[in-house]
Formats: sequence, C-alpha cells, structure tokens
Amino acid sequence: MSSHHGKIFCGFGACISNPPFPSWFVKGLFYPPVSQHDGQADLAPYALRKIEACLLDSGFSEREVATVHPERLDRVMGSETRVVGVSLMDPLGWGPTSLTFASIFNGKTATQAEFEKLMAWLALRRGKVKIIAGGPGVWQILQVKDWKRIFPLDTVVVGEGERVAGDLFHRAVNGESLPEVVFSEDADLGLIKPIRRASVGGLVEVSRGCGRNCQFCTPTLRGKRDIPFSIVAQEVRVNIKGGNRSVCLHAEDVLNYGSGPKNRFKPDQGKVIKLFKTALAEMEKPQLGISHAALSSIAAAPKLVYEISELLNVGKSKYAPLFGYQAGIETGSPRLLRKLMAGKALPFKPEQWPEVVVQAFGISKDYDWVPAATLIIGLPGETPDDLNSTLELMDKLKDTPSFIIPQFFMPMMETSLENSPRFDISRMSEEHWKIMLKCINHSVRWADHLRKLYFKPEALWLKALYWVGYRLLYFFAWLGGVATVRRLKLKLPKT
Ligand code: SF4
Repeated sequence: MSSHHGKIFCGFGACISNPPFPSWFVKGLFYPPVSQHDGQADLAPYALRKIEACLLDSGFSEREVATVHPERLDRVMGSETRVVGVSLMDPLGWGPTSLTFASIFNGKTATQAEFEKLMAWLALRRGKVKIIAGGPGVWQILQVKDWKRIFPLDTVVVGEGERVAGDLFHRAVNGESLPEVVFSEDADLGLIKPIRRASVGGLVEVSRGCGRNCQFCTPTLRGKRDIPFSIVAQEVRVNIKGGNRSVCLHAEDVLNYGSGPKNRFKPDQGKVIKLFKTALAEMEKPQLGISHAALSSIAAAPKLVYEISELLNVGKSKYAPLFGYQAGIETGSPRLLRKLMAGKALPFKPEQWPEVVVQAFGISKDYDWVPAATLIIGLPGETPDDLNSTLELMDKLKDTPSFIIPQFFMPMMETSLENSPRFDISRMSEEHWKIMLKCINHSVRWADHLRKLYFKPEALWLKALYWVGYRLLYFFAWLGGVATVRRLKLKLPKT
C-alpha cells in the first residue's frame, strides 16, 4: 500500500525477493507506506477503494469505514472495530513475476513477507474481529491445504466484490456467522460504484474483464464491461482532488474501450479518443497514462496511437516524455498461440502473431510509447521449436526501447489450465535459459536509457537517491546472479 514515489510501475519492485535484495532496500526504493490523515490513508489500492465505495453505498457512514495502511491498523482499530477487510494481490508470491524472481534467487518476495506480517498481527485478534479477504490474489490462499487453520481469515471472497461486500460486512458487524468461501458473480455496470477517495497511481478503471480468453488468465473469466464516461470523469476528479498529479486509465486493453468480442477486438477509435478527452477535461495538466494495451490493438490502429500521442504531446511535453504501457507477448510461436490464446491476436490471425508484435513495437517506437511486455515460459505443451520461435522474435525487437519480462507459467485457480504443472527453475532447458538471458540483456540495455526519461526528480536529494538506488539494484542483482549460478551449478548457454 504505497504510492511507489509517484511511479505506479515501480510497484512491480515488490515482486522481487529477499535474497538477493534486503527487505529495507526493497521497501525504501519501491514501496514506502502511503501518507495518512485522521487515520485514513491518503491513497489506497484501487480495489480497496471500490470496496470502500460499496460499503458506503450499503449504508455504512463515513465515520464507520476507515481505509488504512496495514502498519497503522493498531492505531485505528479499537474496541468498536468489528471487521477487517483485506485486499490481496499476491499474498504468497505466486504471481508469475514474483514466482520467477523468487525461484531464481530462492527467496521470499516482499509481497509474501508483508502478507505474513499482517496475518501474524491479525492472528492475535482472531475471534475479536471478523476478517474478510478478497482481491485478485485469493486463489493463492485457497490453494493452500488447511488454509483455514494457517491464516486467520473468516471469509474468502472469490470474484468481484460488488455483489456481496455490503451484505458480508453488515452480517459481520451484527455478529452473524459468515461463510468460509464466497464465489461472487460479475457485477452489472449499475453495481460498480465510483470510488470516493483517491487511489494509488491515480488509477481509474475504464473497462473490466477482457474476453480474449487466454487459457492461463483470470481477468478474462470476467465478462467485458466498459465503464460509462460520466463515472470515468468522476473518478478522475476524485483522484486529482485527492492529491494525485497524474491519472492512469486502467483496463486489460485500454485501446479496446467500447469494443470487444463483438467487433473481433478492432479498436473503436472514436470511443477511445472520447475517453481520453473526457479524462483530460478534468485535469489541469495533461499527465495521463494507461495501464495496459494489447499489441494486436496497436498493430490494428496505428492512427489511434498517433492521435493519442498528439492529444498528450507524447515525447514533446515534460508531462509525457514517453508513454509506458504493459502488454503481453507471451510467446513467439503461432502454434502455441493458436493452442492456448488464439484470441490474443484478434483482429489478426494467430499465424500473424510474430508480425503483429513486430509491427506494434515499431509503431510504439515511432510515437515514444514504451511497452513493458511479458513472455511466459513453461507453458503446457511447449516444445523447443516454440522456444526457438520466441528467440527469433526477440531478435527482431532488440532495437525498440522496451522491457521484456520473462515469467514462469503458473496455473491459476479457475482458469482452463489450473490443473497443469507449475513451471520452475529445475525444469529450465537450454532454450529457456537463452530466453531468460536475452530478456535480461534486452531490458537492462534499455533500462538506463528509459530511466533518464521516466525518473526526472526535481530535488537534488531525490536525484542522488535514485542514482544510489539504481546502482545498488545492479549490485544486488549481480550478487544474486552469482549465488544462483553457484547454487544450481549452472553452465549457462552462450548468448
Ligand atoms: S489478452 Fe491479456 S487479459 Fe486478455 S485474456 Fe489474454 S492474457 Fe488475459
């Protein structure tokens, strides 16, 4: 629960593990606690803000609901407290990025360490308050045998919270018993309430769900819904009023706002531009970003990329020296794409996937958009040929400023691949290592270039902190790398 020094993508830093990075270093550099006033956190993760809005809408008063940083719970909780709600993203460090880091370095991620700390504290209050957990990471809890004994959780909510949060919290406050697990249905648009207070990173959800149906993915399990312009505008206002200088439009593919399966995922340019204009109309300074964009949408709509860049003055204005977004490459193999994630390429065919990725990276480079793209290794049914196709694709991307992040395949609950084997370092072949090293080589090469554009701290002390932090990061990564090679007695491939 941090503003990540105003750089939301630094939140990924909490996925790195100890060892090799000491906890104090990771916390200071990536997730210092959010500030607070009158017992309330000034900024909170978007998912918590949504639940907070549900509770206020269900009849609780502003005085009765407090959103607080876990470390400040002891100062806010009193004898009147009846229920604590916890939103979980990656409690056991099994998210794909965390899993990759932690298994390489044989460490524990910051997300897991913080979760354990919170659970230990809440365990002392078990029986005195009800504890309800929800959020995208609850599948990790339910995969632990005997979780009810291990974690002090009374109820775990799987799915979207809107339909059940109000009822569950009222029952908890009234001392009624709660079900151990609640599977909640998707919320209709009318049930998705606008946040009342500012979110971390100025996040504003513009679409929920995806619809491309990749077999390893959880967001796609939720039907795709586009949030109305009026609510988007309202949430931008709340964020700016709450102290956020920038706003981040969030969806699994912001460029597919207003489109989706019915149009074979061809972007609706008019609606997307209106979305950006709606948000900009609420802001004095055009500090507007997005969380995710699909590479296929970028390749299908280069004119849209151009128009957004013009609106925001990307590459020319101090507010938008570059335009970062997260995307999924996942594989360079059309065969694997067709088998496990055919919808990812739409409106193109799976066979066109490598060309789609190259096109999208090229368009991004032309307009100063910077992808942070993931690759999944260890997918079920993957062959050496598939991995070689990925290596070939990576060669074609090497001149585009970008990050390419390798992730180990993790079977997530509820997905079609939930019973497939989890991938880990002991299963890595020479091709896997080549991909891993190529990704590191690519990302480290571009990191220094992009750091200078992304981090432009005005204060001298902050500049010095980043300078030192950046070098320490490399130092610890080097130490960790050497230790890993020794531990596993690896003979790394030449690359
Ligand atoms: S495109 Fe992304 S969000 Fe959509 S189903 Fe595939 S992995 Fe999930």
